[in-house]
Amino acid sequence: KGSNGKYTVTLIPGDGIGPEISQSVKDIYTAAGVPIQWEEVDVTPVLKGGKTVIPDPAIHSVRKNTVALKGPLATPIGKGHVSLNLTLRRTFNLFANVRPCVSIKGFKTAYDDVNTVLIRENTEGEYSGIEHEVVDGVVQSIKLITWDASERVARYAFHYAQTQGRSRVTAVHKANIMKMSDGMFLSACREVAKEFPDIKYDEDLLDRVCLQIVQNPRPYSDRVMVMPNLYGDILSDMCAGLIGGLGLTPSGNIGRDASIFEAVHGSAPDIAGRFVRGTRCPKIDTSATGKGLANPTALLLSSLMMLRHMGLNEHAMQIEKATLTTIAEGKHITGDLGGKASTKEYTTAIIEKL
Ligand code: NAD
Repeated sequence: KGSNGKYTVTLIPGDGIGPEISQSVKDIYTAAGVPIQWEEVDVTPVLKGGKTVIPDPAIHSVRKNTVALKGPLATPIGKGHVSLNLTLRRTFNLFANVRPCVSIKGFKTAYDDVNTVLIRENTEGEYSGIEHEVVDGVVQSIKLITWDASERVARYAFHYAQTQGRSRVTAVHKANIMKMSDGMFLSACREVAKEFPDIKYDEDLLDRVCLQIVQNPRPYSDRVMVMPNLYGDILSDMCAGLIGGLGLTPSGNIGRDASIFEAVHGSAPDIAGRFVRGTRCPKIDTSATGKGLANPTALLLSSLMMLRHMGLNEHAMQIEKATLTTIAEGKHITGDLGGKASTKEYTTAIIEKL
């Protein structure tokens, strides 16, 4: 917190629709008088010692402020591209990715009362990034599971359940097939469960959980699900589908050295304007604005998780109420939710409700 009474938070606007939805969050925060000043940083990778890395000023900013809000970062498909998302997670030891999915009252979907919380191991598993070609036509990808990372994410899941009033932790796995890797993940969860006698613990297979949640999500309202990296990535998009899509789902990357909050969705190139980060697009028109098709809610709700993480609960509640009421009324909602409003019109409608 600075001498002006404001907290400094790092803002990474990101690629594609990122700058557009970040602008919405900034506008809403200004209107709501949230005591935050943004330190905007560019994460366009730079070459250092033959490797592409995140520029130092961005790293220093996150390390200093310990809290950041991040727009989506595009990862080009193909050889030799490091995922900046993975790099950020590793750089700041962002070991747990928390993904809540809650139905929005008044916004009709197949179920009215989805309330799931999924915690995804964020640093290893299937996304360890260790891949190689054994011989021509044969590629090996290593799923790395360590006791330390499993225990750390399990402990966070139990702690989350305890502090957020959820009575159960369910470890989601495929240990019937991945006997050693998922097997060890489960052993770590079982050990940690002993430290939390007031929280129930059980285990379920990923495929069964998928089937059960799409058939009836209600039983999942009382618990926290914890799982290895890839399972969490996929299952959370499925849960997002139950409440109205990726435009609505927030997440928090909780770490040892910092915490970074971001939407579950990516850069949505199919609906993005010409906002494209530096080096990957030689023809940038910096005066270009976005197409106005993006729904900023997911990033906005991620920022509210951030405010609660910082103890700014009242501001979070005020903005949440204005946002959810705007969606429930349905007059100024974006195209992904079946409306006609532009990003800016939706943002203005929220600001008018504050
Ligand atoms: P995506 O999430 O960007 O888009 C999937 C679909 O959802 C698209 O049809 C898109 O238009 C829609 N969508 C997503 N967010 C929306 C929003 N806020 N409002 C309205 N519609 C929205 O997934 P993708 O197309 O597979 O990935 C695009 C890029 O994003 C890739 O480079 C990928 O690597 C990257 N990505 C980044 C992150 C991250 O930064 N954490 C997460 C996922 C994907």
